[in-house]
Amino acid sequence: MNFIDKRKQMVQIQLIGRGIKNERVLAVFSELPRHEFVAVELINSAYDDCPLPIGAGQTISQPYMVALMTELLEFKGNETVLELGTGSGYQTAILAALVKQVYTIERIEHLSVQAQARFKLMGINNIRAYIGDGTLGLAQFQPYDAIIATAAAPQVPMPLLEQLKDNGKLIIPIGDKSLQTLTLFEKKNNQIFKTGKCGCVFVPLIGEKGWQSDDY
Ligand code: SAM
Repeated sequence: MNFIDKRKQMVQIQLIGRGIKNERVLAVFSELPRHEFVAVELINSAYDDCPLPIGAGQTISQPYMVALMTELLEFKGNETVLELGTGSGYQTAILAALVKQVYTIERIEHLSVQAQARFKLMGINNIRAYIGDGTLGLAQFQPYDAIIATAAAPQVPMPLLEQLKDNGKLIIPIGDKSLQTLTLFEKKNNQIFKTGKCGCVFVPLIGEKGWQSDDY
């Protein structure tokens, strides 16, 4: 099966089959070549229903989890978004196709450099990538319409809630090291509303307001 067919099957079975409905989200997953975000030896597994290793003990998340987190943020197209955990850059590129501007932070330098090379090669020019500790947010471009963390924290890092716009949404896996709850925080009239969405397993968000590296 070629990559186009594998991608169609991924969208049909893994996303639509599990309840992803947003047409814009489905269209981006149908177009974006996920196989270009993994190492050459893994390209035949790129559309499988699972996370895959990207080096440094990190992963490109399962397609369904990327789609669910994206759909829950309910983008209209004009948003400014902060992403924590650039990783392979796949989620970043999905966001970039759906919103106006994406800022993304990654703590592991070579992953960020590799992801930035992919964005350049694909001609994506609404992403600004930074290397650093995303648990502190990125104060210089706040407030954000949405914030997405693609790694798990023991509790929500307060700088992220502070850097969220009113009516903004933050999606982040919260829990212990072996199991978390995908959690949506919404700011309305400067009050925070929290909803648990589903169980999930993510790599740790390591930083000042996340896990300490020696916790793992
Ligand atoms: N969205 C990524 C993708 O599509 O490939 C998945 C990334 S992986 C599940 C989570 C990433 O978060 C890892 O690359 C990890 O290095 C990064 N990370 C962990 N703690 C971080 C922090 N405090 N700030 C920024 N990135 C962090």
